[in-house]
Amino acid sequence: MTSIGLYSIGETIGKGSYGKVKLGTHKLTGKQVAIKEISKEHAPMVAREIHLHRQLKHPNIVMLYEVIITESSIHVISEYCPHGELFDALTERGYCYSERDAVRWFVQLVDALKYCHSQDIVHRDLKLENILLDDNDNAKLCDFGFARHAESRQMLQTFCGSLAYSAPEVILRQKYTGPETDIWSLGVILYTLLAGGLPFDDDSEVVTQRKIVKGDYDIPSHFSPEVSDLITRMLKLNPSERVTIDQIAGHPWI
Ligand code: ATP
Repeated sequence: MTSIGLYSIGETIGKGSYGKVKLGTHKLTGKQVAIKEISKEHAPMVAREIHLHRQLKHPNIVMLYEVIITESSIHVISEYCPHGELFDALTERGYCYSERDAVRWFVQLVDALKYCHSQDIVHRDLKLENILLDDNDNAKLCDFGFARHAESRQMLQTFCGSLAYSAPEVILRQKYTGPETDIWSLGVILYTLLAGGLPFDDDSEVVTQRKIVKGDYDIPSHFSPEVSDLITRMLKLNPSERVTIDQIAGHPWI
């Protein structure tokens, strides 16, 4: 297939569990987009993700423009982020970011997350691989595959996301309301950008889990007292003691 709707389909830019992502170009405006082609047999697995993602409109969330359904596939047309994943940017750089560099992305992510939570949507899979960069290196949250509606009275209990970014209550299969588990993962993201490595990491999954549920991590000596304080508040074992998104936005480090 060389085109879909008003878009011509170009090179493959990535591959996910449910299909390839290709670069698309709008035939009239020349605007570039990302086109994810998903086989219809996977429709039940992606329906909720598309439904939730479609509701979100924020400058730091990858914009879902439209969904085109053909006889065999679902094409999800979204904003193209040419600078790729923040994870790859950190890996290619080979060492950590300065607090001055990281704070810009962090503020953008706090803003995006605050918006999601205000819509009662929890992401539940925040990690560097799910943050894309546009051509101005702005952070854009993506991949709502594990996202859920979480009204304040409702409790969640499923394990999901990636272990290294998972909150202790998720690992311990305790009930959680959702927003505070996203705060934990955002704390892991901030730590990783500034340290150049994950706070909780081991070749053994069990050892990693043990470190997370004990809150066993080291703050590198080059972290400023302000950012150390913020990370400590985001990585509180007890979810009810964890800093809230509004408190983060008002923290002195920001
Ligand atoms: P999974 O499907 O297992 O969750 P994934 O999130 O990596 O994995 P996709 O969302 O299908 O899967 O994306 C595959 C790859 O394509 C990503 O890793 C990313 O590098 C690239 N990609 C996806 N969306 C965009 C986009 N909007 N702009 C630029 N690159 C993208």
